[in-house]
Amino acid sequence: MEEAKGNSWIILHNAVIVTMDPQSRVFRNGGIVIEHDSIKAIGQSSDILRDFSALAHQIIDLNSQILLPGLINTHVHSSQQLGRGIADDVDLMTWLHGRIWPYESNMTEEDSYISTLLCAIELIHSGVTCFAEAGGQHVSGMARAVELLGLRACLAQSTMDAGEGLPASWVTRTTDECIQLQKELYNKHHNTADGRIRVWFGIRQIMNSTDRLLLETRDAARQLKTGIHMHVAEIPYENQLVMDTRKANHGTVTHLEKIEFLQNNLLAAHTVWVNNTEIGFLSRAGVKVSHCPAAAMRMLGFAPIREMLDAGICVSLGTDGAPSNNRMSIVDEMYLASLINKGREVYANGNTDPTALPAEKVLRMVTINGAKSVLWDDEIGSLEVGKKDFQPCLLHAN
Ligand SMILES: [Zn+2]
Repeated sequence: MEEAKGNSWIILHNAVIVTMDPQSRVFRNGGIVIEHDSIKAIGQSSDILRDFSALAHQIIDLNSQILLPGLINTHVHSSQQLGRGIADDVDLMTWLHGRIWPYESNMTEEDSYISTLLCAIELIHSGVTCFAEAGGQHVSGMARAVELLGLRACLAQSTMDAGEGLPASWVTRTTDECIQLQKELYNKHHNTADGRIRVWFGIRQIMNSTDRLLLETRDAARQLKTGIHMHVAEIPYENQLVMDTRKANHGTVTHLEKIEFLQNNLLAAHTVWVNNTEIGFLSRAGVKVSHCPAAAMRMLGFAPIREMLDAGICVSLGTDGAPSNNRMSIVDEMYLASLINKGREVYANGNTDPTALPAEKVLRMVTINGAKSVLWDDEIGSLEVGKKDFQPCLLHAN
């Protein structure tokens, strides 16, 4: 029976395989067998070649290159790629109201398609095979680009039903229209492109959402078994506004806990201005956090990443959109995440601590934690039998 399937098998061998599996196994001279799009076997090269080479269609010697799971970027605005450089050196509210919303509100579906193409090509260049869209205006344009390029993505509509600062040309949708539109996008695009595209619900941020929108989004996402992507606790002004208008005693996360919005399919982006009690709320609910170090340094501040990881929160990494970063490399974010969080220890805990966010943890954030954050860890995020993703990086081990 094995021989009948043998023609589609490909063996990659003589590689340094970094599996990111639960035992964090690394094979210094490893081999892997791929059948169609999934991993059939993994182990020492000698064992793999002995057991499978007679049946394989193709055998590729990787010459000590490193084989990693595909990297996952958990917070990207693919529609903002054409806006790179339009919002440097301004605070978040100017960035949003004065620069980004006028740009986004003038986009057509074709603009969104082109922007996502450009963005995704850069993502692929740094090893990304899956990304979580933070929310743009034209999911159908994004979906065309993702399908063409062969990536995986969790796409989301930028959704707002309230708040200040929206451009006059932008028709504000009612709560019902927001939910209905996203259900239609789900029905049209979810599980398309051979299962590589999933559709999530988007909440732009609490300052532009009614509580009814939050709760109906929670219920609709739960019913459709999909995720919710939302910017959370980005700046002190946001927390203050929530305290003033919603009578929460500490900002966004406290309010979201109070209305029972927090759940384990929520991907919270940035999550910079949270206290220890709120870290506890996020941890207990199983909320995932996307840390975007470059965007944080440009406009937001130091997120308490070490404390969140210590509390058991699944933290992953994101580039954010081009005008928040001016780069689109998840490898740059890995570098920044390590340095920023080591440096933060000096003011947060009064000591230098080079052990804060070590390399293995950072690698975990862009692989298996990323996969858990996009609710896709049954198929991607680590190199294990039965999973789909692999990424031969062009790096030599010696
Ligand atoms: Zn964002």
